[in-house]
Amino acid sequence: MKSSTKHVPERTCLVCKRRRPKKELFRLATVNNEVVCDISYRLPGRGAYVCKDKQCVSGLRIFKGLSGAFRKTDVKMGENLIENMIGEL
Ligand SMILES: [Zn+2]
Repeated sequence: MKSSTKHVPERTCLVCKRRRPKKELFRLATVNNEVVCDISYRLPGRGAYVCKDKQCVSGLRIFKGLSGAFRKTDVKMGENLIENMIGEL
């Protein structure tokens, strides 16, 4: 193994379940049980990840596992969350 190989942190996309380098994914976090996009990767608490990919972001609309992903019972998505994320693509 080459010593120059850097370890890249990988996360799994909620929607397509692919593992990708963290920087290729949006981080989602919850603020008062509302799911927000954590653009700066700095919000506290449990995060969930979704590809910076229109198909995956749009897939969140019908994604049912948010409560499980955040280990909370009553999470909801922000009104313009998906539109805002698509705007960041
Ligand atoms: Zn994905």
